[in-house]
Amino acid sequence: MRNRIFFKLLAAFVVVIVAAAVAFDVMIGGAWEASLRTEIQRNLIQKTKLLAHRVEADRSHSLADIAAQEGQAAGARVTVIDSAGKVLADSEAAPFDLQSAASWPEFKAALSGNIGIAERRSATIGTPFLFTAVPISGGAVRLAYPLSDVEAISAKVRRRLASASTVAFLLALLVAAFASRWSARRLERIVDVAARIADGDLQARVHETSQDEIGRVAGAIDKTARRVEHSFAAVQSSQRQLETLLNSMQDAVVAVSADGLVQWANRPMNRLVPQGTRLQQPVVETIRDPDFLTAVKEATHSREVKTGRATSIVPGRAFDVTAAPLPDGGAVAVLRDLTETERVEKTRRDFIANVSHELRTPLTSIQGYAETLLDGAPENGAPTREFLEIIRKNSARMSRLTEDLLTLARVESGETRFDAESVPPAELLHDAEENFREIARTHGIELKIQDSSAAGSSGNGSSSLSNHDSPTQNLPRVLADREAIHQVFSNLIDNAMKYGAAGGRIVLGARAVPHAVEFFVQDFGAGIPSEHLPRLFERFYRVDKARSRESGGTGLGLAIAKHIMLAHGGSIRAESELAHGSKFLFRLPIA
Ligand code: ADP
Repeated sequence: MRNRIFFKLLAAFVVVIVAAAVAFDVMIGGAWEASLRTEIQRNLIQKTKLLAHRVEADRSHSLADIAAQEGQAAGARVTVIDSAGKVLADSEAAPFDLQSAASWPEFKAALSGNIGIAERRSATIGTPFLFTAVPISGGAVRLAYPLSDVEAISAKVRRRLASASTVAFLLALLVAAFASRWSARRLERIVDVAARIADGDLQARVHETSQDEIGRVAGAIDKTARRVEHSFAAVQSSQRQLETLLNSMQDAVVAVSADGLVQWANRPMNRLVPQGTRLQQPVVETIRDPDFLTAVKEATHSREVKTGRATSIVPGRAFDVTAAPLPDGGAVAVLRDLTETERVEKTRRDFIANVSHELRTPLTSIQGYAETLLDGAPENGAPTREFLEIIRKNSARMSRLTEDLLTLARVESGETRFDAESVPPAELLHDAEENFREIARTHGIELKIQDSSAAGSSGNGSSSLSNHDSPTQNLPRVLADREAIHQVFSNLIDNAMKYGAAGGRIVLGARAVPHAVEFFVQDFGAGIPSEHLPRLFERFYRVDKARSRESGGTGLGLAIAKHIMLAHGGSIRAESELAHGSKFLFRLPIA
């Protein structure tokens, strides 16, 4: 019932008004009656006293006459008795009709010298009487006043009071109904507005101006609604900004819930899939690429950023997938079209490969002729010989550079095919040692494979290499292309000889790590300052340019090693401590 509050208020008012009217009636009626009786009593006592005086003083009339006269004058019955209680005169009945009156309470009091007052119903006529008796010498006089008139007046007054109360009650009821209706209406408005706000109408307001409690509640609701409206507008605005931003991006973005349903997608995403994105449907219905789906699933479960390369979303195009976990579960995936980047990259690699290839022949010929001329040049023709030597040296350097560039371009482009086979790590180490031991010796450097005791001291994982003679024998076989790994060892040992010769020795080794075997080439030379370590594997990055050139370095050796490792699904890194030497470590996956 909508007006429940109205009826509750009205019922409360009715109870209060009825209680007030009843209390008023009872109190006023009672008080009025009491005062009336007191007045009558006082009057009657006075009259009785006057009667007593006359009875004692008037000797010219008989007692019966005095009683009759006074009774008529007072409108009351007069009775005179002697001290024995015998009735001497009575204004209404013959004295002999009356019984002895001494036992009546008013006479009893009067005969003992006091004023007697009593009220009772007459046994004969049934009307209530007020009796007052006063002592006289040798007896007492009494006046009996009928209270029937008083009762009639009393009843009339009560009726009047009742009707006045009824009128007042009706008036009060009207006012109460009006007040209840008014308060109920105000509360109903507040309830309506609260319900509208709850339904999403944030512009709904109560607009109460009154400052009473209801007004303050209304004000609080209006204030809350205003705040919510502002916050909502701010949220909507930032959401629109985000949507605009996402739609203006080149990359396709899609958000997927924890249970794999598409939450939203930007415009590039919709353009990417011919059938459009299906919101609230499994993501696999929109994008079927397995690499994309794996990245999204892994990011959702591992709560970490996952990347991948998707090639089957659009035929002939490749996408870089980055899936990041969303705070509330699920993931957001960004698809970057790699087709153009890869095309540019390929053009660049092809260009470098072509240039290197084209330079090869003229450089070989320059180098050849310089050498031929050098052979025939007189020993003492110093300047000519010196110039020829410079030409030969530089053409040799350029040859190395073009060779390295070509190798790098081929490895990077995947043109160089690696035949990965299952190889024991010990074999790779021994091949490297065998090939470079003699060259190292000519440089005055000792090259050897780390023995078991040294392996133990080098820590992690190597403690498992318990075979005393050749700990590397126990290592699991790795997947590797022998030629390529030889090239990696060659580059690393070559560097160790060029930059770490001061240490006098180079150590090769390997140890097992989770899912891979880690090889290393360690020298004990000057080391590399730590700030250079992260960039060491970039092409043409050299710590000391002059030194590298002077030693015939091209700045490409480590870059080539890195790309060979990447092609093997492995990795490479460097550790170094200044003045203690450098250690280059690379990992090959277990076969
Ligand atoms: P480069 O042909 O100049 O040797 P790399 O790519 O092989 O080119 O090496 C890059 C740079 O890393 C070198 O120029 C050198 O400064 C530094 N480097 C490589 N190996 C070592 C090493 N064992 N000790 C100190 N520095 C090294």
